[in-house]
Parts: sequence; C-alpha cells; structure tokens
Amino acid sequence: MLELPIIEVGSGNGECGSAAEANSQLHSLSSIPNPAEEAPRRRLPRWLKRPLPSAGMAYTNSVIEDLRLETVCESAKCPNRTECWSQKTATFMILGNVCTRPCGFCSVPRGKTETIEVDEPERVAEAAKRLGLKHVVITCVTRDDLPDGGADHFYRCVLEVRKQTGAAVEVLTSDFLGNRASISRVVESQPDVFNHNTETVPRLYDRVRRNADYQRTLDLLKQVKDEAPNMATKSGLMLGLGETVDEVLDVAADLRGAGVDMLTIGQYLQPSPDRLPVERYWTPEEFDELGEQCRRLGFSLVASGPFVRSSYHAGEMAGVLGRSE
Ligand code: SF4
Repeated sequence: MLELPIIEVGSGNGECGSAAEANSQLHSLSSIPNPAEEAPRRRLPRWLKRPLPSAGMAYTNSVIEDLRLETVCESAKCPNRTECWSQKTATFMILGNVCTRPCGFCSVPRGKTETIEVDEPERVAEAAKRLGLKHVVITCVTRDDLPDGGADHFYRCVLEVRKQTGAAVEVLTSDFLGNRASISRVVESQPDVFNHNTETVPRLYDRVRRNADYQRTLDLLKQVKDEAPNMATKSGLMLGLGETVDEVLDVAADLRGAGVDMLTIGQYLQPSPDRLPVERYWTPEEFDELGEQCRRLGFSLVASGPFVRSSYHAGEMAGVLGRSE
C-alpha cells in the first residue's frame, strides 16, 4: 500500500488525507500563527501514515456533494477519510453542520444552528443506496437548542435508510442532555448498533468535553441496554490528551458496568491550531497492550490502534457480532 510521507507539523497539525491535502497542509503551515510561540514543534510519529486515494474517493465525494449531505469525515477532519472514501464508506452527519457544544478536541463548526431539513432522511438513504453501503453509520451534531435534541429526526433517518436500503444501521448519538425520552425515541428506531462516545477520562472532561457529563454518558449507555438488551452498544475513547493507563482502564470498567459491548480506542490528532494540542502519541504497541487489557474486562469486541475511530471499519466490527453483513 502506498503511504504518504511523514509531515512535520507544529501545533497546527490537521490530518493528512491525500497527497494534495498533505501538500496543502505543508504550504499552509506558513499561515498558521507562529506555532513556536504556542507549543514546541512536534514530529508526527512514523506510524501515523495514511494511504493515497483511489478512484472511489472521487465517487464518494460526488455523491455527498450531489445530495448536499454533511459527513463527520470532513467536518471532524478525520485522518481516515482517504481510506474510507476510497472504499466508498462515509459517516453521515445529520441535523446540520453547526454544533451547540464547545468541545476542545472537535473541529465541527459551532455557533448559530441550522434549520432541520425534512428531506434529509431521504437524502441520507439515497446516498447509502448509491454507495452500496451494507452498514450505514449516522451521527449528528449536538443540538441542545432543540427540545428533543433532534431525536425524532434521528428516528426518521434510521427508518428511511432501512426502508430504502435494507442495510444495517449504526447510530452515533449526542447525549441528548440526558433526556430519557429522546434516548428512547432513538432506541425505538431499532438501530443494529447504538454508539455513544465517552471521548476521554472524567478528569479531563472540563477541558476536552465541556458541557458534557461523564455520568450522563454512562447513564445513556445503560438506559439503551436496559431498554433493548439485544441491541449492541458501543463507545469510544481518544488517547493523547493527558490521560493515564489506569484512568482509561477505570473508564473501560465503567463502560462494561453499563453493559457496553464494543469499545474503540484511537489516537487524538489536533484538527486545527485552535483546538487542544496532542499531549502524547501512544505507540501501536501501547494500543495493543491496552486493547488486550480492555478485552479482559469482558467486552465482546475492542478495537484499539492509532487510527481507530468510532466509525472506522464499523461494518466489520458489527459483523463480528452478527450485527451487520
Ligand atoms: S473513520 Fe469514520 S469518520 Fe473517519 S473517514 Fe472513516 S467513516 Fe469517516
């Protein structure tokens, strides 16, 4: 597999998707406000390389553009976009492209939210059909401005995708401010996998995930399991923000306590200069070891590695549990 060269970056490290993007990032470094004044220059470790794009990437892009859809792949500057889009896989982001939360790690725009587009469920379903997806992942921006947090719109998206494609559906939701009725509404749509990310350890919530609440996240995951014991639940963590191994293992144990079946653990990468810097790059060996320790806690499946994201190879993960094709 062809791989991109390592890019030396300052605090303005985004992720490298294609050769062109990598080059543009190199050139754009000169426009980043003097990184040396903000943080020491960091060199991306050698294992953080990504493949070059293939023809499928342009096709995926054209489908997304044609149907005026948002993806978390683009909005969150996901480092796996080249790989996933080349394989005609994307994660749809509904309820607009503007978030109501100020999370320190996330590059999704924040500010004045957008009106819900009532035809979005049909457009998401059409995109899934054109891409030939067998496992469709739908996520959303957090909409604390809506009475139900967008739960009913989520419900309609899941139903429409299933009706139009017959595909398995995985939802990756916000915490709905802990609104139990909203969480139940999404459960009612019977997704094959219900995913809600923990993101980081509780000690770092104020800095990383402001306005969220660790216990609220655990409660959400437990509620889903209580209401739908056969529905697979999943959560994800980012490493590299200052957490310790013991803290991560404590979170993993809490997630198991909430009945979570699947866990994803990946390396945080700073998406733009105004987002939290990387404190540490965990090595692939450390990810392996941590994954092994988490497996011993009883998860059905643990994916742990530098490029693991909650929706990375989601279909394969769910397939192992018989929740997807
Ligand atoms: S890992 Fe998920 S968010 Fe990232 S590019 Fe792949 S599908 Fe998109």
